Amino acid sequence: MIKIAIQKSGRLYDDSVDLLKKCGLKIDNAKGQLKAKIKNYDAEVFFLRNSDIPQYLEDGVVDLAIIGENVVEEKQSKVTNLLKLGFSNCRLSIATPKSLVYDDITDLEGCKIATSYPNTLNKFLKEKGVNADLHIISGSVEIAPSIGLADAVCDLVSSGSTLFKNGLVEQEIILNSEAVIAANGKSLTTKSEQIEEILFRVNAVLKAEENRYILFNIPDDKIEVVSSILPVLKSPTVLPLLEEGWSSMHTVINQVDFWSVISKIKKEGAEGILVLPIENIIL
Ligand code: ATP
Ligand code: MG
Repeated sequence: MIKIAIQKSGRLYDDSVDLLKKCGLKIDNAKGQLKAKIKNYDAEVFFLRNSDIPQYLEDGVVDLAIIGENVVEEKQSKVTNLLKLGFSNCRLSIATPKSLVYDDITDLEGCKIATSYPNTLNKFLKEKGVNADLHIISGSVEIAPSIGLADAVCDLVSSGSTLFKNGLVEQEIILNSEAVIAANGKSLTTKSEQIEEILFRVNAVLKAEENRYILFNIPDDKIEVVSSILPVLKSPTVLPLLEEGWSSMHTVINQVDFWSVISKIKKEGAEGILVLPIENIIL
């Protein structure tokens, strides 16, 4: 039995459930309960507070967790980050009110900084040799300067719109973060096979999400030139059409290349282009 923790509710929840489902783990009636048995797999999913997950992981209550890197860093947890998942991207930054003159980090000497991430901030300030007074609050950090609680803030930023709305300017990026799969060190040895199986599935899902399956019809005399345009996994599949002189080409291409490839093959005479999502890629 493998025990996997995900956030109970919040920014990580939807993507975490979605990922586990795509890995073929059927989660029953997820919301509202502390844990759920997976019907079709020997696993249990725990729904926990994001900030509590590192402790559960470290203590071995759970074997694996989907969690933000920033939380692992803040809790200074003894866990192993195994795989970046490409969602919940954000950064931990220091921001100051527009009115404050800020040239570099030394301007924060003696200032009061509001944050929910004291350990990460302390470490950063120490490295920079700056002494500041930390004001630890658990939420709505961005309003602290406007109500006179602090001179600056250190908080998570994704688009930057919350900072902007509160008249704050991002000055220093302390840490970049995204969701990861983290593991308990002991479980990595005692349950290595089960963990590898999960990672294998997750990798297949991530790979599939990056790619699209495309198929189109092409005159036979264009097969060679079109093949050279396609950045394919291997060689494209070519199947003859009933109509003389035409074939159907099938291949997998990366999303990044997608639009430029489509317009090039169209110019070469590709017709009836179909683009399909892929559920899994197992190489
Ligand atoms: P808890 O579950 O303990 O309430 P939390 O308050 O940190 O945790 P969320 O605000 O849902 O929960 O954030 C969860 C994670 O989402 C963060 O730890 C971070 O990794 C990520 N995240 C991505 N973008 C942002 C952002 N703009 N602001 C805050 N977190 C973000
Ligand atoms: Mg919260």
